[in-house]
Amino acid sequence: VAKREGGARHRLFHPEMGEEVLARQRDKVDLRAAIDSGQLVLHYQPIVDLATGRVTGAEALVRWQRPGHGLLGPMEFIGLAEETGLIVPLGNRVLLDACEQAVRWQDRSIGVTVNVSTRQLSQAGFLDTLDEVLTTTGLRPKGLTIEVTESVWADEVAMRTLMAVRDTGVRVALDDFGTGYSSLSYLQRYPFDVVKIDKSFTAELGESGRTAGVVRCIIDLTRVLGAVAVAEGIETPAQAEWLRVAGCDYAQGYLFGKPDMAENWDVQPSVVWAAEHDRT
Ligand code: C2E
Ligand code: MG
Ligand code: MG
Ligand code: MG
Repeated sequence: VAKREGGARHRLFHPEMGEEVLARQRDKVDLRAAIDSGQLVLHYQPIVDLATGRVTGAEALVRWQRPGHGLLGPMEFIGLAEETGLIVPLGNRVLLDACEQAVRWQDRSIGVTVNVSTRQLSQAGFLDTLDEVLTTTGLRPKGLTIEVTESVWADEVAMRTLMAVRDTGVRVALDDFGTGYSSLSYLQRYPFDVVKIDKSFTAELGESGRTAGVVRCIIDLTRVLGAVAVAEGIETPAQAEWLRVAGCDYAQGYLFGKPDMAENWDVQPSVVWAAEHDRT
């Protein structure tokens, strides 16, 4: 822009840029207010046991019901939340809401899974907050799984906190496995309960023999590490069947259910899929 306008190069603060800065400031103020005013809503997506077709878990995925903007997905505001530090109050809100829901689902044996960003995990108060949430909701630690991405390896404090989380009995999952910094030595050194195979792999299952081989290896590696595998982004019965035969324990994707409000779960069946040999 500065080049095109030639002589205007000295104008450091372009009006368009000013608008951007203002819009960002407005987003930040609105997001801050949204956290306390109930505009953040959680949708839950089923996690399915491939051996039985039974729903055994639910991943909480945050949305922002923003007045005048509709329902925004996390990709539209989690980045801002991380940059501004709002991820901490936002994440705490999500954790509390998800644990309250998990208590309601305890009798249906549905555990809840919550995404936690590395930045949130590296905050000094995280363990205390978690402890407080479990105490006030009365949720058994086993009913909660915390999902982190491989970026956690790069943050020593976050990694240490994660292992302390695991010591409390809360399960930990490695999300989007294979898309970030995967280090076999870290994987071997730090125990995870769950490895989530990213949808970029499962999407190519039918198309590439090479990808199928890689997914098979991830499933085997997961087993060797003593964790269970969850395949993400499953959209077709063929993908689900392939994964079941390959020994993948759990799966998640539009085939079984899209993320939806907890209220709509009351009318969902508890078994959402049948293996090929069980079909008649
Ligand atoms: P994720 O944790 O890997 O979640 C899976 C994403 O894939 C979700 O997108 C989900 O709606 C989508 N998905 C599920 N099944 C399918 C499928 O069959 N096909 C396709 N194409 N997509 C599928 P969503 O809800 O937009 O969330 C995006 C990301 O935002 C999440 O990825 C997670 O990293 C982050 N996120 C969501 N909620 C939170 C939160 O409360 N805190 C933090 N820190 N991050 C969150
Ligand atoms: Mg996740
Ligand atoms: Mg994922
Ligand atoms: Mg993802």
